[in-house]
Amino acid sequence: MKYTLTIQESHYSELKNHLLNEDLNEHVAFVICSRSLVNGVEERLLSREVITLSNEKLIISEPTKVSWDNQYFIEILKKVESKNFSIILVHNHPEGFNQFSEIDDKGEKELFQLAFNRNGYNTIHASLIMLPDGYLIGRVWKTNLSNVQISLIRIIGKRIVLNYPDKTSDYETPEVFNRQQLAFGKALVQDLSKLKISVVGAGATGSATALLLTRLGIGELCLIDKDTVEQSNLNRLHGAKLSDVGKYKVDVLQQYIKEIGIGTKISVVKSWVSDKECIDHLKTSDLIFGCTDDDAGRILLNRFAYFYLTPVIDMGLIIQVKKDMNEIQDLQGRVSYLYPGNDCLITKGNINTQRAYEQDLKRNNPESYKKLKNEAYVIGEGDPSPAVVTFTTQIASISVNELLNRIQGYNPSLLDFPHKQFFFHRYGDGSEIFPGNISNNECRICGQSNYWGRGDMQPFLDMA
Ligand SMILES: [Zn+2]
Repeated sequence: MKYTLTIQESHYSELKNHLLNEDLNEHVAFVICSRSLVNGVEERLLSREVITLSNEKLIISEPTKVSWDNQYFIEILKKVESKNFSIILVHNHPEGFNQFSEIDDKGEKELFQLAFNRNGYNTIHASLIMLPDGYLIGRVWKTNLSNVQISLIRIIGKRIVLNYPDKTSDYETPEVFNRQQLAFGKALVQDLSKLKISVVGAGATGSATALLLTRLGIGELCLIDKDTVEQSNLNRLHGAKLSDVGKYKVDVLQQYIKEIGIGTKISVVKSWVSDKECIDHLKTSDLIFGCTDDDAGRILLNRFAYFYLTPVIDMGLIIQVKKDMNEIQDLQGRVSYLYPGNDCLITKGNINTQRAYEQDLKRNNPESYKKLKNEAYVIGEGDPSPAVVTFTTQIASISVNELLNRIQGYNPSLLDFPHKQFFFHRYGDGSEIFPGNISNNECRICGQSNYWGRGDMQPFLDMA
């Protein structure tokens, strides 16, 4: 069982502004967290709210010491009681001492004993230390008052920042990634090796995405698709051969990636994205690529990004041809980076909800679907859509670069543009990028923060 934490970027900024004060003394804040649990694999805390203790509430605030009245802690315990949320105690070490001190051990044990006594034993709690450069180290306090190191802390927003205990400037880059290190440095190589990424859809864009992620040195991949290879896929399916026709797409890709042999851990799921096995993989991923044409699946991933603070990079490609004329009417690609604090796919108009409804119906209630189709109300079904490998691969490539830029930041100005659209059939570079400002929208997912970091709840993703 590993313990990890995801903090929204805005929460991290609040913590940093409060703790790393000019007075160079210790300060205190609390983070209220919900959680995401996959039994036996990972328990993940998700930040919901930051509560800071102002100076006048502190009894002592010195360079190596801080103390406060427990009444403020009890107020927070009261607040989270009914929802079983976890509390993280955060303080800073102004002199850079990069571990918990004996005083911390003693104080925290008493504090969390109080928490368990008052709020019960249904959830864990945690503590963090912020170092002068903003780096975080942390541990979880279990209900038996033992503590365990937090193995990964993700700060999620415009940037993706990873803090983990063995992060080091002495990292020995494996030989295979030397050239990449020359471009982007060791830290990126080590960060990528820490990531688990799920790729939803193993078709044209998904197969390209999975192979690019493999060669970048992503630590662990999960490939999700229940389709098999057809001969008509071979014009664009990376890693697939004629002899693979009839096999599961994810099996073919997995085999190919294993043969590359650079140590990528890989698992496959041959089911629809809302199945339990699939959801468990999504919940233990650090990031998800949406490589499907499936609008019902997109609706789920779109919500997932906000509920679980797990960025989703969703991509799509449309080719439209004028009937009988072989003339391109539209050749358009889209890449969307979804995270709490930014517009979602529904707000951006990137999900066809009518088609999503039909796809859902087809899956869950085939009889009704047939009826609807006979009455000619179904819009999604048509001739097979056109597909060209160069464009599907290009969109995959742009999407994976989106990930690189969010972690490494090689193009800072592009970080302000999470929604990108590319018109490949027009003159010029053909791209149009949209700023990601929240447009004060009414959307329940991206327009208000109730759902952000909500984590596990019934019903899942509050989808009835
Ligand atoms: Zn929205």
